Amino acid sequence: MSTDIARIRREVCDLHAELVRYQLVVWTAGNVSARVPGADLMVIKPSGVAYEDLTPANMIVCDLDGDVVEGDLAPSSDTAAHAYVYRHLPEVGGVVHTHSTYASAWAARGEAVPCVLTAMADEFGGEIPVGPFALIGDDSIGRGIVETLDGSNSPAVLMRNHGVFTVGESAKAAVKAAVMTEDVARTVHLARAHGRPLPIGEQDIASLYDRYQNVYGQSSDRSASQGDAQR
Ligand SMILES: [Zn+2]
Repeated sequence: MSTDIARIRREVCDLHAELVRYQLVVWTAGNVSARVPGADLMVIKPSGVAYEDLTPANMIVCDLDGDVVEGDLAPSSDTAAHAYVYRHLPEVGGVVHTHSTYASAWAARGEAVPCVLTAMADEFGGEIPVGPFALIGDDSIGRGIVETLDGSNSPAVLMRNHGVFTVGESAKAAVKAAVMTEDVARTVHLARAHGRPLPIGEQDIASLYDRYQNVYGQSSDRSASQGDAQR
């Protein structure tokens, strides 16, 4: 277990650098967490620490009520939301939160990103849905994420007036979903600014999604491909 936690501390620390690399975060906003397999534990970023100062050692280990198990610093202020998702969605191994610019602009309008790109059909299987307005500090953000994901293929939710929460079978897959969310939010914004994006038929969305999720990629590497941008 301790070797697992050491590996996950490094993985979660390294994935925060991807949020910076893809310009999804400013200052200390945004966070990544990963479930510790086989334990009711998660690893998450400390609160208010600059991205360049994050190390595997200063990541925080929490239980799934969001209480600190290992770590000297306070955990991310979004810990309760991450913990709620892990408690209610056992298949989720990673959660990411960002205020990435274009996606948050859709969230500010309370508007779902419509599925008007084949890459969206591949990754999201439909629109990127909008969750409720929720204040930080209790379960309401987590509940909003879980309720909005229910019945959607999307691994991403735009929480109204706030930003993006994504989930994945691994933390890396959740980071990929956050990167893709911002990418398609930007493209569809541009499409809308210059005209009317054309809808994709429901049947076509379903077949694109099925192919990408089940057939695409190297067969020996199919489950890993969910976390890898290898298109
Ligand atoms: Zn936030």
